[in-house]
Amino acid sequence: MILHRVPYVQPSPACRCPVQVCGGIIPDPDCPDHGDRKSPAMERHEADGERCRELRSTRP
Ligand SMILES: [Zn+2]
Ligand SMILES: [Zn+2]
Repeated sequence: MILHRVPYVQPSPACRCPVQVCGGIIPDPDCPDHGDRKSPAMERHEADGERCRELRSTRP
C-alpha cells in the first residue's frame, strides 16, 4: 500500500519529494525537510483512498 503524506508546513525549496496529484508527497529519505533525519509529523493517507480523492477535488 502506498501512503501519501501531507506536510503541515509549506515545504522549503530544498524539498525533493515527489508531489502527488492530491498535493501530498511521498517522502524522499534524503529530503532535508521530510527525510529520515527529520521525519516531521505529517498527515498520511492511502494513495487513491477516500481522503486522497477529497484533497484532489479541492485542488484548483
Ligand atoms: Zn520533502
Ligand atoms: Zn494523496
